[in-house]
Amino acid sequence: MSVHITPSGKKLITVIPGDGIGPECVHSALRLIEATGVPVEWEVREAGASVFQKGLESGVPPETIESIRKTRVVLKGPLETPVGYGEKSANVTLRKLFETYANVRPVREMPNVPTPYSGRGIDLVVVRENVEDLYAGIEHMQTPGVAQCLKLISRKGCEKIVRFAFELARAEGRKKVHCATKSNIMKFTEGMLKRTFEEIAPEYPDIEANHIIVDNCAHQLVKRPEQFDVIVTTNMNGDILSDLTSALIGGLGFAPSANIGNEVAIFEAVHGSAPKYAGKNVINPTAVILSAVMMLRYIGEFEAAAAIENAIMVTLEEGKVRTGDVVGYDRSNTTTEYTEAILANLGKKPTQTFVREYRPIQLPQVSPDPVMVRPQKRRVVGVDVFVESDLHPEPLGKLLEELAVGSAFQLKMVSNRGTKVYTPTGAITDVVDHYRCRFLLHDTNADATDAQILDLVQRVASRLRWMHIEKLQEFDGAMGYTKAQGED
Ligand code: NAP
Repeated sequence: MSVHITPSGKKLITVIPGDGIGPECVHSALRLIEATGVPVEWEVREAGASVFQKGLESGVPPETIESIRKTRVVLKGPLETPVGYGEKSANVTLRKLFETYANVRPVREMPNVPTPYSGRGIDLVVVRENVEDLYAGIEHMQTPGVAQCLKLISRKGCEKIVRFAFELARAEGRKKVHCATKSNIMKFTEGMLKRTFEEIAPEYPDIEANHIIVDNCAHQLVKRPEQFDVIVTTNMNGDILSDLTSALIGGLGFAPSANIGNEVAIFEAVHGSAPKYAGKNVINPTAVILSAVMMLRYIGEFEAAAAIENAIMVTLEEGKVRTGDVVGYDRSNTTTEYTEAILANLGKKPTQTFVREYRPIQLPQVSPDPVMVRPQKRRVVGVDVFVESDLHPEPLGKLLEELAVGSAFQLKMVSNRGTKVYTPTGAITDVVDHYRCRFLLHDTNADATDAQILDLVQRVASRLRWMHIEKLQEFDGAMGYTKAQGED
C-alpha cells in the first residue's frame, strides 16, 4: 500500500463524485473528513455517465486513470451503467484496471435503524472476489439462440482472496471465516475456491474456518445472520449475498465497501446512483461516509476514522435526525441536516454501540509470476467439439460416428446444455441447436496432437457448423473436465 504525499505533506486522494446521488453523498463524506483535520488533499476526477455521453466507451477517461496511478487511493460515488450494447460498467472497468481483487463489504446493526433483526448484533463482512468469475465479461452468442458466459476462476485469484479474508479477520479481531461456494455443482470453478480455502485455513489456526454451500449461506443469513463473522466468496455469489446482507441492517444506505488491490484501493458505497433521488437532498449518505471511514483506516488515519464512525453512531443513537430510508421514521431529515448532525457529534463516543479496534491489514504477498500451477504430467485425452445443428440427437450422433471413422478419435457421447442425449439414455430431454460432441482417443494411453484434433474438426466441419472446441486434458492423472449429466 502506498499513498502519494503532496509537497505540503498531505495525503492525496482521487475523488470521483459519480452520477445520480453520488455527488451529494461524496460531498457529505468530504465535509466530515475535512472536519477531522486529517492532512488530506483531493484530486477530483470524472467517470461514468458524463464520460459515456462524451463518447468514451470505457466511461473512464485517461485523466482519471492517470490520477489513480499517482494517488493509489480513490473515494468514489456510484457510477451509472448504461443499459444496452457495447458499453461496459465503468465501475467494473475501474476495479479491473487496477486489479482491486478484494471487495470488502461490512455490515453491522445500526442503532435506531429498526429491522426484523434489531437486537441480534449483526456484525459481519462479505469478502467478494472482485475481478474474476462471470464478471470477466467474456460472453459469446454461440448460435443465434444460445449465449455463453465464461466463468473463469484461477488458483492465484483464489489464493489472494482467501488469504485476504483471513488477514482481514485478524486485522479486525474477528474469529470466524466462512467460505461460501457452489462447489457441489461447479466442481472446478467454485470448487477451486473451496479447495484453496481448505489448504490455506490451517495457516490461520486462530481463526475458525468453515465451508458453506452458497444457497444455504443465503438461507442461514436470513435465518440466523449473527452466526457469521467473515464470508469469503466468488464474485457473483458475493454480489448477491452482499446486497442481502445490506438489507439485513437497514438497506443500501448503510452499506459501505472497499475494493482493495496490491497497488490501488477504491472506496465506494455498495449502492448505485439511485437516479430518482438525484439532487433532491433526501438520500442517506452513511454508506459513502462509512466507505470514507474505511479509506481513512487504509491510509493509516485510524483516529479520524474512529471519530467519524463514532459520530455516526452517536447521531443514530440520539435518534433525532435520520434520512427517509430508515423504516418507520415518519419525519425524514435532509441529507444536509443529517450530515450536520454527524458533524456536530464529532468528538463524542457512542454509549450503546460497540466500535471495533482496527489494525492495519497485512495484504497477502502472492508472486507476480503469471503461471503458478505447473503439473508434472499433462495429456490431451480427447476433445469436445461444439456444433450448431437442427438435427435430432440420434441422427446427429450417427453422423458424428461416421465422420470420426479413420480419425484418432471415437465419439464418446453428445450432450445438449450439459445433459447426455446420445447414445440415448431413455431420458426425455428438450434440445436446442447447440450440441457438445465429446470425442476420446482410441488409444487411451496416448496424448492427442493438434494435427489429430484439427483433422477431426475438419471432418466434423465437412458436414456440420462448429463454433467452439475444447481440449479434454488430464493434469497429473486427474481429469481436467467434467462429465455430462447422464454420462458414464
Ligand atoms: P441503486 O442505485 O442502488 O438504488 C436502488 C434502491 O436502493 C433505491 O431506489 C433506493 O430504494 C435505495 N437506495 C440506494 N442508495 C440509497 C441511499 N444512499 N439512500 C437511500 N436509499 C438508497 O440501484 P439501481 O437502481 O439498480 O441502480 C441505479 C444505477 O446505479 C444503475 O445504472 C447501476 O448500474 C448503477 N450502480 C452503480 C454501482 C456502483 O457505482 N458501484 C452499484 C450499483 C448500481 P427505494 O427505492 O426503496 O427508496
